[in-house]
Amino acid sequence: MHRIFIIAALSLMSCGQVENIAVTEENMDTSSGGPRNLILLIGDGMGEAEIALTRAYEFDGDDGLYVDTMEVRGSVIVKQLMKDDPGKYQFVGESASGGTTISTGQRTSDGHVATTATDGAHIKTILEEAKEKGFKTGLVTTSAITDATPASFAAHAENRYCWKRGDAACEEYGDNPIVDQMLDNNVDVMLGGGWELLDAVDENATLIHQKAIDLGYSVVKDMEDFNNLPVNAKTFGVFSNSHMPVEWQGAGGLGAQVVSLDEEGNIIFPLAERCELNPNHAGIPKLEEMTTYALNNLANDNDTGFFLMIEGASIDKQAHVAKPCGTIGEMLAFDRTVKMAVDFAVEQGNTAVIVTADHGASTQVIYKPEFYRGARTLDNMPGLYQLLLSKGGHELGAYYGTNNTDDQAHTGVNVPIYSYGLPDGAPVTGIIQQDTIYDVMKAYLFQ
Ligand SMILES: [Zn+2]
Repeated sequence: MHRIFIIAALSLMSCGQVENIAVTEENMDTSSGGPRNLILLIGDGMGEAEIALTRAYEFDGDDGLYVDTMEVRGSVIVKQLMKDDPGKYQFVGESASGGTTISTGQRTSDGHVATTATDGAHIKTILEEAKEKGFKTGLVTTSAITDATPASFAAHAENRYCWKRGDAACEEYGDNPIVDQMLDNNVDVMLGGGWELLDAVDENATLIHQKAIDLGYSVVKDMEDFNNLPVNAKTFGVFSNSHMPVEWQGAGGLGAQVVSLDEEGNIIFPLAERCELNPNHAGIPKLEEMTTYALNNLANDNDTGFFLMIEGASIDKQAHVAKPCGTIGEMLAFDRTVKMAVDFAVEQGNTAVIVTADHGASTQVIYKPEFYRGARTLDNMPGLYQLLLSKGGHELGAYYGTNNTDDQAHTGVNVPIYSYGLPDGAPVTGIIQQDTIYDVMKAYLFQ
């Protein structure tokens, strides 16, 4: 921590003084030594509405989330470039463009993974820069490991769905499969979902990835493999066929529904229900467990430091399918993981933590769908609605109004940024642009 405060003080001084004292700082660096680490946590689709829904359900609206206690915070403006006309902005983001803006400092368009919107040129990412400079690198997610957010740090594609050889999406622009690029980039730890990325190669259809094995990776695919991993393994771990199952679900597995009317035309509001555990999540590693392994691995025998990106992917995916309990469970897991990252940073020193989202999702917290004036009918009641019962027994309405099916859109809200361990004056407070996050990470990691 001392080193960080000294750097902050330097920035306030004149040029001549900076030069003199910088030598002192260099000396301190030598004496204190130690690697420099950056942990970036991305809550996919984690707009303020998804956070508010979670806070209301779990803490009855009190500030009980760990991120609520993080004092250095700001608000990020999200925008991407139009696919058909990259000279124009689109005031809502998406995971490939958002991931790219964070990982490269350049805006791009929908579906582009670390490639330009204009001609698909590859843009070097913070992870690739870190790798070149000798840092260890890691990617942890609850999505398939090749999904847009992790891919934006370790691959380049104009179509985000070009995951593996043979995928039709690879043909659109001639992209090299994302999984091959991620392995070629020699990322030290990759943990998420994605059995479908593996090859079934023998008569027992044992799942391996020959290229990963040839490159020296330990390929792990279940809890037993995971628990037996040595701390220094170069790891490619996938624990579900595609995206990992979420931790929570609505009562009986149901999400938000179109409201119905009784015979007199009055809306029948559902009873308030509590969320429940998703039985399909049993037996797979939790986000915190994958994060613990990644931190231990990357910090092990490492004199330079590491860059680790951790994604809570299904905050967004559950909002797409209008399942507020799914979003809440994933948001709570992400929040616990943020606390773990900050605890690690406090313990380790020389470690910064940045927490943000790529874009907002479709969740709205309302009481009940209603008009302030006029009659309510199904014709004027768009969207899907679910009434939850918070821990303290309060009714909590979750609403999805971007359409009437379980295929909801992203929304153009600002997203939060929280941080720990950055120098004072780092531009991560107030209102910032999303591409600034790249500048902040680069300045911290490679100073
Ligand atoms: Zn999404």
